[in-house]
Amino acid sequence: MSSEYVTMEKIVSLCKRRGFIYQGSEIYGGLAGTWDYGPMGVELKNNIKNLWWKMFVQERDDMYGMDTAILMHPKVWEASGHVSGFSDPLVECTKCKKRFRADHLENKEKCPECGGKLGEARQFNMMFKTHVGATEDAASVSYLRPETAGGMFVNFKNILDTFHPKLPFGMAQIGKAFRNEIAPRDFTFRSREFEQMEIEYFVDPRDEKSVNAKFEELYGQQMDFLKKIGLSENKIHKIDVPDSDRAHYSKRSVDTEYDFPFGQKELLGLAYRTDFDLKAHTAMSTVDLSYYDEGGKERFIPHCIEPTFGVDRLVLAVLSDAYTEDDLGGEVRTYLKFDKSVAPVKAAVFPLLKNKPELVAKAREVYLALKKEIPQIMWDDNGNIGKRYRRQDEIGTPVCITIDFDTLGEGGDEKKDTVTVRNRDTGEQERVAISELNKYIAP
Ligand code: ATP
Repeated sequence: MSSEYVTMEKIVSLCKRRGFIYQGSEIYGGLAGTWDYGPMGVELKNNIKNLWWKMFVQERDDMYGMDTAILMHPKVWEASGHVSGFSDPLVECTKCKKRFRADHLENKEKCPECGGKLGEARQFNMMFKTHVGATEDAASVSYLRPETAGGMFVNFKNILDTFHPKLPFGMAQIGKAFRNEIAPRDFTFRSREFEQMEIEYFVDPRDEKSVNAKFEELYGQQMDFLKKIGLSENKIHKIDVPDSDRAHYSKRSVDTEYDFPFGQKELLGLAYRTDFDLKAHTAMSTVDLSYYDEGGKERFIPHCIEPTFGVDRLVLAVLSDAYTEDDLGGEVRTYLKFDKSVAPVKAAVFPLLKNKPELVAKAREVYLALKKEIPQIMWDDNGNIGKRYRRQDEIGTPVCITIDFDTLGEGGDEKKDTVTVRNRDTGEQERVAISELNKYIAP
């Protein structure tokens, strides 16, 4: 089967049915652009975030992990250019009053909903404004951060003073970002509240060759990460962003786009932010954010290369990449072909029958022992085995383990302490010794 059957309707419906993602504030009719991750979704998302943190922070000695505040001093966003320039063109229909992003419309004159005449486009700032403290005046205005980057630039000096790192080095964080998108759409792809994983990597600008080499290296590492979480290489596209489309702070940008069911769209970004941010924050805060090079006895402002990853877009890419329908034993089934590393549940353990205490006791014993080593193990004794397999297939569990009478020794010594392990992708079953299970399941 080709993968053309993968539609957003099917993915959205599976996400709700199996507890991955729900509409935000659903019982109140929903709040546009917000999504709630359920028990399966949070595990999938955490797996992606943990793999990223391990690869980009913990396994390296040139990266400093951070977790900075979402609310920041308003001057941060003045310095970064977001107050004056972080906007999208907004048009309003003169008839039905609906609002659209002008650059997303094919026909700039006519309302795509009611056919009415569209008004003039105006710039709409996407930052969420709020007030800090009890007074609601201009002096108390603050913003929910539109990207996590700002929190790292304002801590650049703290990292220099605490750790005295030598260039090149990076700062990394995972956290929420907020954008008042004019038209949130395509499920979680364009949300108003979402999560980013960002790196601000600082380099010595005097050596242009090594700056370019670092840019390529970071791009390669972005690709390695996508491979690690199991995305199909042929769905990933490299886009050199032309001058006219680049963010105001970037000298060179390479976007990574992915073939989502609704088209090829941005998944990740890589931008050469130069000294734009450190220079701007030095000027605005009057705190010197330069770096002193001991070797060359020279002081300068480092340049910054920024790899940025959207967590929710990665989750959506992983879900749509994994969504599979096939024919198993004459029946059409749906399953998520997750890579083991991201699967929310690594294995499910069942007693063959729910009403046989000796089977349940043995199954609990196997389940608890496995769970101690690998926490993402699920217990399932609901319905018959076929139903359990279907349920586990739909949440992408790589293996299901059944404890039966042979496990208890009723089929002879040879089969004692062995279990049935069923493979998600092939549906095939084999007998495995309980003592070997860890090896089977380990991500
Ligand atoms: P787009 O052009 O799609 O609006 P962008 O170029 O504005 O995205 P960046 O500013 O580069 O995006 O943000 C970095 C990353 O954050 C993006 O690559 C994407 O993965 C994620 N991201 C940005 N906006 C959203 C959003 N509204 N919802 C979910 N993720 C987002």
